[in-house]
Amino acid sequence: MYTGIGASAGIGIGSVVIVKEPSLAYNNVEISDVAAEKERFEAALEQCIAKTQAMAEDMKTRVGEKEAEILEGHVLLLMDPEMTGQIHANIENKMCAEASVEQVCDMYAQMFASIEDEMFQQRATDVCDIKTRLLKILLGVEDLDLASVPAGTVLVAEDLTPSMTAGINPANVAGVLTEIGGKTSHSAILARALEIPAVLSVEGIVSKLENGQQVVLDGSTGEVFESPDADCLAKYTAKRDAYLAEKAALKAFIGKESATKDGHVVELCANIGKPEDALKVVECDGEGVGLFRTEFLFMDRPQVPTEEEQFEAYKKVAETLEGKPVIIRTLDIGGDKEIPYLGLGKEENPFLGFRAVRLCLQRDDLYRPQLRALLRASAYGDIKIMVPMISCVDEFRTVKGMLKELMAELDEKGIAYNKDIKVGIMVETPAASLMADVFAKEVDFFSIGTNDLTQYTMAVDRGNPDVAYLYSTYNPAVLRSIERVIKAAKAEGTMVGMCGEAAADPLLTPLLLSFGLDEFSVSATSILATRKVISLWTMEEANEVAKKAMSMATAAEIEEYLKSVVK
Ligand code: PEP
Ligand code: MG
Repeated sequence: MYTGIGASAGIGIGSVVIVKEPSLAYNNVEISDVAAEKERFEAALEQCIAKTQAMAEDMKTRVGEKEAEILEGHVLLLMDPEMTGQIHANIENKMCAEASVEQVCDMYAQMFASIEDEMFQQRATDVCDIKTRLLKILLGVEDLDLASVPAGTVLVAEDLTPSMTAGINPANVAGVLTEIGGKTSHSAILARALEIPAVLSVEGIVSKLENGQQVVLDGSTGEVFESPDADCLAKYTAKRDAYLAEKAALKAFIGKESATKDGHVVELCANIGKPEDALKVVECDGEGVGLFRTEFLFMDRPQVPTEEEQFEAYKKVAETLEGKPVIIRTLDIGGDKEIPYLGLGKEENPFLGFRAVRLCLQRDDLYRPQLRALLRASAYGDIKIMVPMISCVDEFRTVKGMLKELMAELDEKGIAYNKDIKVGIMVETPAASLMADVFAKEVDFFSIGTNDLTQYTMAVDRGNPDVAYLYSTYNPAVLRSIERVIKAAKAEGTMVGMCGEAAADPLLTPLLLSFGLDEFSVSATSILATRKVISLWTMEEANEVAKKAMSMATAAEIEEYLKSVVK
């Protein structure tokens, strides 16, 4: 057995086809006619741009916009005057077009590869892909035709470039194995988009396997079995069939309402961390974004994102969701989320300390630009603002006051924003839960953050393994807290959602339905599974389960009971 990185889920069973690029050897001679060579290069470049644009168009219709963006990026690189200028300069120095292209592309690829950042590493792969495409045109070498591989093929390649992937017919490709690439590489993104199981970064796999050999690969675990025996084959065939049956069954929930068996409708949204994730929400048929954790915009970078950068990010999500609700949470740092460049000191009890809204209210330089960016972006969709870690009403009132001032500023400058923008809070502290009836009169909506609410209710550090046994949302104290928050919201007609992990827990679905939760916000990949679980219950059944569960005394009893009734 070999192992690599499971980069696209599913089980692939099939015969190996080794993908080897044809030789691109050329005669590196000094040229005599510079003008003719420049013309030859320009013609090849033009052909390459046209070809890449056609591939991008094809990718857009067959796979998706996001995947096509990779090839559109190639077109931009090919049009980059800096790069083509250097190739022309090489030709002027009597280098042939092939050598000129190779030298410049290799230089760019090395430069990108030397930067320790996944995006730049990917850029290096893109430049190599472009180089190959240009050389093939210059040398008149035919492209590999992956469109005509027989059904049940497992493609084995050093890397799967976007050019190769563009030609793949997913009906014939049972799996993909490569020697390089990770979960976020283009090959992984494309394999997932084409729904082909893939294991990447399997060391030396091209030379270990032979054409026609049978293999089994598990795109979730990253396992690869060469020439599997009957037992292995039977086991993985059953696994593959179960996976496909489950997937097909979930697809049936695309376009459906999120409703119980007896027609009680709820809203099913998704949590995101980056603007790009919004596309996945749309793909998975999410009804909106229930939580955008904006702190991720502030992480993995050397300084605070500007108001303009934030505005663009929020606007992008709002536009991607095309008018569906987008709840954007203001900066929630501190606790376990560190941002080194802010220079915040070490604290004895970081989870109880200077975090989230507490910090923002002391840092106008951070908070005002974020709120202004959110208000400006609200002109482009249904953005709602959510304040995290609220523990008293004053905090919320201060934020509202700030927003009022910023709105007046925008009015003065004639900048558009949604004057009726909704502002709500995360209910994730016991204080907010206990005051839910008062908050419900002041805020536009609640979103229950069970990850923190569990930690604070149980007085148990969510990351400490010694007390992990106490960290359970099934604990009746936590469930009572959730129930009272939802009931308090209902009593005032305030919208109440949940964006903590508990929203996606199928054991808790009947309880949340029974308590009256309006909105469930889960990871994009859990949307359809959650919609399915909701559809399996009637409200009467859910009420019965909730009544019984809420009469129990311990987390263990409740969990065991819920497991016995789960659908
Ligand atoms: C929560 O606390 O439940 C929540 C959704 O926020 P985070 O996990 O980002 O703290
Ligand atoms: Mg939280």
